[in-house]
Amino acid sequence: MSGLTLKQFQEQVSDLLLRHRSLLDVLSKSQQASASVNRSVIKSVTECGCISLQANKQPYTEELTLEETKAIIQTHVNGQLCENCIDAITVQLGKQLFYLSALCNLLELDLDDTLAKESQKCSTLGLFNLS
Ligand SMILES: [Zn+2]
Repeated sequence: MSGLTLKQFQEQVSDLLLRHRSLLDVLSKSQQASASVNRSVIKSVTECGCISLQANKQPYTEELTLEETKAIIQTHVNGQLCENCIDAITVQLGKQLFYLSALCNLLELDLDDTLAKESQKCSTLGLFNLS
């Protein structure tokens, strides 16, 4: 993607959004898109098998420094996504972005501003931004 900004994408979504102009429709489609992202990731484990999970309690202790803790925290993911699963998850993430942009449009929010504010919050809070 060559230089497409969130603002341009938001305008593109606004032009295309004819069927789901209602805030209720957009909220429900956004939630459906989020569930579809999760479903695609789960199918990578349960149907494709390119990744697997091995989850257990994270080894936090108060004796470790933040850097030591970062080094031992696990993702619980083994393997790597195959091309098919990358494609499937990317499609679902795109739909999620579409409805996120649509939600911003209906509420007259600027997605670029939202991103900038969240990025500033991450910079300010750093590692303590755990929410
Ligand atoms: Zn796969």
